[in-house]
Amino acid sequence: MTATLHTEQKRVTRRWAIGLVLGGVAVLLAMLVLLLPALERVYLSQIGKREAPTLTLAVEGLTGSLRRFEALPGLIAERPDLARALREPSNGDVIDRVNDALHRTAEEVGLSDIFLIDPTGLTIAASNHWKELSFVGQNFAYRPYFTGALDGEQGRFFALGTTSGERGYFFAEAVRDGEAILGVLAVKFTVDAFEDAWRDGNNEILVLDDAGVIFMASRPEWHFRSLGPLGAEARATIEDTKKYPMDQLQQLDVTQDPFDAGFQRLQITGDDGTINRYVMQSQMIPEAGWTVSLLTPGEQAWTRALGTVALTALLLLLVGLIATVVIQRRVQLQERIRAALSMQEELERRVTQRTAELKEANRLITQEVEERRAAETLLRQTQTELIQAGKLAALGQMAAALSHEFNQPLAAVKSFARNAGAYLDRGEPEKVRQNVGMIDDMVDRLAAISTHLRNFARRPGEKTEPVLLNRALDTALVILEPKMRASGCRVQRDEIDGELWVQGGQVRLQQVFVNLLSNAVDAMADLPEPVVELSLDREGALVHVRVRDQGPGMTEAEIAQLFDPFFTTKEPGKGMGLGLSISYNIVRDFGGTLEGRNHPEGGAVFSVTLKRAEAPSLAAAE
Ligand code: ADP
Repeated sequence: MTATLHTEQKRVTRRWAIGLVLGGVAVLLAMLVLLLPALERVYLSQIGKREAPTLTLAVEGLTGSLRRFEALPGLIAERPDLARALREPSNGDVIDRVNDALHRTAEEVGLSDIFLIDPTGLTIAASNHWKELSFVGQNFAYRPYFTGALDGEQGRFFALGTTSGERGYFFAEAVRDGEAILGVLAVKFTVDAFEDAWRDGNNEILVLDDAGVIFMASRPEWHFRSLGPLGAEARATIEDTKKYPMDQLQQLDVTQDPFDAGFQRLQITGDDGTINRYVMQSQMIPEAGWTVSLLTPGEQAWTRALGTVALTALLLLLVGLIATVVIQRRVQLQERIRAALSMQEELERRVTQRTAELKEANRLITQEVEERRAAETLLRQTQTELIQAGKLAALGQMAAALSHEFNQPLAAVKSFARNAGAYLDRGEPEKVRQNVGMIDDMVDRLAAISTHLRNFARRPGEKTEPVLLNRALDTALVILEPKMRASGCRVQRDEIDGELWVQGGQVRLQQVFVNLLSNAVDAMADLPEPVVELSLDREGALVHVRVRDQGPGMTEAEIAQLFDPFFTTKEPGKGMGLGLSISYNIVRDFGGTLEGRNHPEGGAVFSVTLKRAEAPSLAAAE
C-alpha cells in the first residue's frame, strides 16, 4: 500500500518536472515568437545600415543636379534678346532668334526645356518651339514658379508637364529691364534619367514632395501615389497648380512601422496583391522640400529572423528533450535505487521477522524442554514414589514369602535337631549324623535364600565398566556345570571372534547369565536331551546375547509378570521368583535391556542387550 503510494508520488513528481521543462520550453518558444518582429527589426536595421551609402549617393545626385540647374535661369534671363522679345512679342525675327538661342542653350547644358513667358503667363518663345507639343502659346499663369518669379523670387516647382506629360523640375527667374519685370524665363529638367539609374540597383528609391506625394520612384507604378493620406488643402493646391494628374493621386496600401534611428519597416501591398517588405530610410533635401527614401527589400530580414527563431526553437526543443530524457533517467535511477532500498528493507524486515519467529520458537522449545524436564523429574519422582510403594508392598510380600521360605527349613531344622537329640540319647550316632547332615542342608538352603536377599538389596546405580563378555559367559557356564551335568543338558554356543567388551560389572553380568541359563535348564527338566542355545548378535554399538531353550515356553500372563519380584511358577522350595527381577534391574543398571518371549519354533528365548565398550587399557584390564 505504502509502496504503491510512493510510486504514485514519484510518478506525479516526474510528470511535474517534465511538465515544468516542457512548460519552460513552451514559454521560451512563445517568447521567441513574440521576439520575431524585434529580431526582424534588428536584421532590417543591419540591412538598412549596409545600404545607407546608396541613399546618400542618390541624394547627392539629386542635390548636385538641382544646384547645377538652379543658377541657369538667372544667367539666361540676362540675355538682352529676351527682354526685347518680351517688349516686342509680335516681332517675328526677334522671337525666332530667341527660340533658336533657347534651343541651343538647352542642348548645350542638358536641359529638357527653356521657355520665355510674358507677364500674363503666355509662353512667347521656347527651346521646343519646333516640336509639335511646343510650349509656345501655352499659358502657365497657374504655375507657382511663374508667379514666384514674377514676384521677383526664384521660382521652383516640380510637376508633371501639362504639355509634354513629362515630369520635371522647373526653375524660373524674372527677365528684367532695370527694375521692371518684363516676364519670366523658366527652365525644366526631367528626372527620368535618375530613375533609370536607380533601377539598376537592388533597392527602390522614392522622392516625396512636401505634400507627401511620390513624384519620383524607381518603380513607375508608384508615381503620384502617397504613403499617407493627403489632406484636402494639399489636394486643392495640387489641383490648382495642375501639379499632378488628380486621377493618379492615390494612397499606396502601405503599413509603416518606425524603429531604430531613422529606419522604418515598410510593407507595401501591390495592386495585384503581392506583399513586399522593406526597410526604409530617408533623407531630406531641404532646399527642394523633398524627402528621398531608400527602400531595401526586407524579406531577407524576415527570413533570417524566422531562421534564427527556428534554429533557437530547435535548440530549445533539443535542450528540453535532453532535459526530459535526463529527468526521466534520473527518476528511473532514483526509482531503481528506491526499489533496491525497499527490497533491502523488505529483506531486513523479513530477516527481523524470521529472527523473531526463531527466537519465539527457541523460547517455546526451551519452555517445552523445561516442561519436559519438569515432567520427567515429576515422573521420576512419581516412579521413585511408586517404586518405594512397590518396594513396601514387595517388602510385605517378601516378609510373607520369607516367613514361608524360612519357616519350613527352620521347622525342619528344629525337628532334625530334636531327632538328633533323641538319637543321641538312644546312642545311635549314625542317625544323629544323618540328622545333623540334614540340618546342614537346611542351613545351606537358608544361606542360599540369604544370598539372594543380599543381591536383591544391592545398591542400584553401582559403577559400570568394560567387561569381557566371553569371560562372563564362560564363568556362568562353569558355575552351572554341576546343574547341567545333573540334568544332562548340552550347551550350543556361538564362538566369539576375539574379545568382545561390553559395559557392565563382571560379577553382576555372570549372575544374569547364571539366572537365565538356570531357568532354561529348569524349563527343560522333562526333556530327554535338553539343549541350551547361546547366541550373540552385534548391532552397531549394541550386542544382543540370546539364551534359548526347548522348553514349554510361557503363557501371555506369565510373560506379563516375568520380571515381577517373587513371581514364580516353580514348586515351593524350587524357585523364589527373584532371579529375573534382579537380572532385569542389573541389565538396566548397565544401560541395557532384558526381554523374554516365546521362540516361534518353540521354547523361550531371553535376550540381553548390552552396550559395547572400548577395551580398557592393559593396566586397567588386569
Ligand atoms: P524362579 O526361577 O525362582 O522361579 P525367576 O524369576 O528366575 O524365579 O523365574 C520366574 C518365573 O519365570 C519362573 O518361575 C518361570 O515360570 C518363568 N520362567 C523363567 N525362565 C523360564 C524359561 N526358560 N521357560 C519357561 N518359563 C520360565
